[in-house]
Amino acid sequence: MAPVQDETFELESPAGDIAPERPPAPEQRSSWWARLSLGLSRTSNSIWEGLAAILSKRKLDADMLEDLEDVLIRADLGIATAARISKAIGQGRYDKNVGVEEVKVVVAAEIERVLTPYTQPLEIDPGKNPFVILVVGVNGSGKTTTIGKLAAQLSHKGYSVLLAAGDTFRAAAIEQLRIWGERLGCPVIQREQGGDAPALAFDAIKMAPDLGANVILMDTAGRLQNRVELMAELEKIIRVMKKADPSAPHAVLLVLDATVGQNAMNQVEIFSRVAGVTGLVMTKLDGTARGGILVAIAEKFELPIHFIGVGESASDLEAFDAREFARAIAGLEN
Ligand code: GDP
Ligand code: MG
Repeated sequence: MAPVQDETFELESPAGDIAPERPPAPEQRSSWWARLSLGLSRTSNSIWEGLAAILSKRKLDADMLEDLEDVLIRADLGIATAARISKAIGQGRYDKNVGVEEVKVVVAAEIERVLTPYTQPLEIDPGKNPFVILVVGVNGSGKTTTIGKLAAQLSHKGYSVLLAAGDTFRAAAIEQLRIWGERLGCPVIQREQGGDAPALAFDAIKMAPDLGANVILMDTAGRLQNRVELMAELEKIIRVMKKADPSAPHAVLLVLDATVGQNAMNQVEIFSRVAGVTGLVMTKLDGTARGGILVAIAEKFELPIHFIGVGESASDLEAFDAREFARAIAGLEN
């Protein structure tokens, strides 16, 4: 495993402390797909411009396959996946004219194959009461927004959700979660700015039964000065949680911003080591995304991918679907 480079681990993010917007109108499947495929169009366009140029030259040979592989690596798909895709393209096609459309189908199939084992819904174990979900990630990755979306989904399914405003660094972050709670009718446990996040985690678990909550979603700060501090704070939150419930946290979700590309690899590595990440959420796939990185992450870290986010409102979070994602990256219709 490559050593972690601090300088590429950006803890700060250009994203501001923007409060969530008003509740959305119910979205339709087609518009969800439209946003996903549009968001991934930067990835798919970079692949197809590269591949079309190569494929139009001549009949397929080993050099062309190597060029194809380079294009796939540049699209953040990861070396192993790129190699497998180019091998699959080569199978039975040497010395033939190969069309872009048939290559798209191969690319989609291979990506789907890589991602399928990691396509796992977030399971709430009813035996754990409250079921404690710790949400981690760098500042601006979409933690608080994802918590709001997830709280909406879980409430809709009949769970009683308690929100814990564990990003005590910024008043705006506490306020942002409070607004989500108010909108969704979920209680929010908060402390003053600068308050002790581990103690808040402890209180949340202890108070959940009285509040009738069976799921806790705990927010955390991402804007920490360096890795040492990040490690210390997250470790302490987990340690103190265990004093309230030795089996907690029951899920640790790492929220990744799709627009950061390769940097996401470092984030997975660091947060896995510090917080024992159990599953991933990738946000901002509606924007100018570089979603190919999710393929490389799945293959390297073998972590479940639970959800993807394609917007800022409550309905913009969907269970991850390997087939849809693969077809969006390949630029195929759903
Ligand atoms: P946090 O610092 O990790 O808690 O990040 P926030 O939840 O505050 O999100 C940072 C910014 O990204 C906010 O402006 C959010 O509205 C926005 N955001 C979060 N998820 C998504 C998403 O899936 N798509 C888009 N377009 N924006 C998102
Ligand atoms: Mg936040």
